[in-house]
Amino acid sequence: MTEPTAVAALPEHLRTALADAAEWQQPLYEDLHAHPELSMLEERTRGILAEKLRELGYEVQEIGGGVVGVLENGEGRTVLHRADFDGLPVEEPSGPGYASTHRQKDADGVEQPTMHACGHDTHMVTALGAAAVLAAHREDWSGTHIALFQPGEEIAAGARAMVEDGLVDKIPAPDVCLGQHVMPAPVSGHVAITEGPAMSSAVSMKVVLHGSGSHGSMPHLGVDPIVLGSAVVTRLQTLVAREIAPGDFGVVTVGSFHAGQSSNVIPDRATLQLNFRAYSDQVLEQLVGGAERIIRAECEAARSPKDPEFELFNHYPLTDNDPAVTARVREAMIAQLGEERVEHMPPSTGSEDFSVVPDAFGAPYCYWIFGGFAEGRDSFPNHSPNFVPAQQPTLATGTEAALAAILAMLSADGDEAPAEG
Ligand code: ZN
Ligand code: ZN
Repeated sequence: MTEPTAVAALPEHLRTALADAAEWQQPLYEDLHAHPELSMLEERTRGILAEKLRELGYEVQEIGGGVVGVLENGEGRTVLHRADFDGLPVEEPSGPGYASTHRQKDADGVEQPTMHACGHDTHMVTALGAAAVLAAHREDWSGTHIALFQPGEEIAAGARAMVEDGLVDKIPAPDVCLGQHVMPAPVSGHVAITEGPAMSSAVSMKVVLHGSGSHGSMPHLGVDPIVLGSAVVTRLQTLVAREIAPGDFGVVTVGSFHAGQSSNVIPDRATLQLNFRAYSDQVLEQLVGGAERIIRAECEAARSPKDPEFELFNHYPLTDNDPAVTARVREAMIAQLGEERVEHMPPSTGSEDFSVVPDAFGAPYCYWIFGGFAEGRDSFPNHSPNFVPAQQPTLATGTEAALAAILAMLSADGDEAPAEG
């Protein structure tokens, strides 16, 4: 094992290349922002990404609705950088001239407004900027760069779709994977990074509780699923308060509770939708298993005539940053951006399907965040209709961070590489 080479700031000619990239990044960003597409329906966006990667000299494949560009440049490590590219069914208020007025039919054929309300347009443009500099300056590095663009992050479907479409057999196996997300904090111009859990593991559960219908005046002749459901909701609160260890992180939310139509009819069923979050798979399993146990027991207590039905969906894996990769990426960012612009990232309670790709290869990874809102300006959470990042220094910082991290991992020696075979 050799010591990895130390990381220095990007040399002057790469800084110039970044400034050159900014000239096409701006119109491309405004075009993508104005034309968001819904999860797993991102046809136009996919075409633009594939065309741009080809123009830069990448070998391009479309896999599972995503686009992957591979640039082989001699001996060395293989570093994958991922960006997601779906928009959301959110109506964008008229703001900047490039605000979205785009509408699109969703998977059920219902027309929806669309908006890049999670900032995935910044992810695409910063990833392409880094790819452009790598392609134009092959004398500065050796190895293989993979620019992976995935669809459908917002519904936890895109990364899995790519893996299911044979991603692992279609591209070189990465030694390390990288990714980033724009957020309301830190401020634009800064990045934030942490080792270990960075984003939570999450899953949703739909539950049907069976009662037995009756007249509102004769509750003793039925089984009231609203009373049953209410007991379930209350008792579920004990999962976090009384079942997981006080030092463990967990969230259980009942986000939907539907039953009945009128005041004098006891309905025959209630439907709940639950959402669970944790920083370890073990705690997530404890929460999901505990919820199922409580629901079954409450159904029995209520004389429910039929077993409850459970359906799990929207499963997001844990994003758990590798300590060695994170240390090197942080070092590269500090060298490039300066210590004061590289902050500690508090673990987010949000979730991502980013880690599906590195997990499919068994590769270590690092996922960090970059700021989207200028100091002193109001900032808004992701998915808000007001989530419109300041173009600069957001795009420049995201591009610099991605490029510095990719180059640092291309020149890292061995330690982070997965075992052979
Ligand atoms: Zn989102
Ligand atoms: Zn997002």
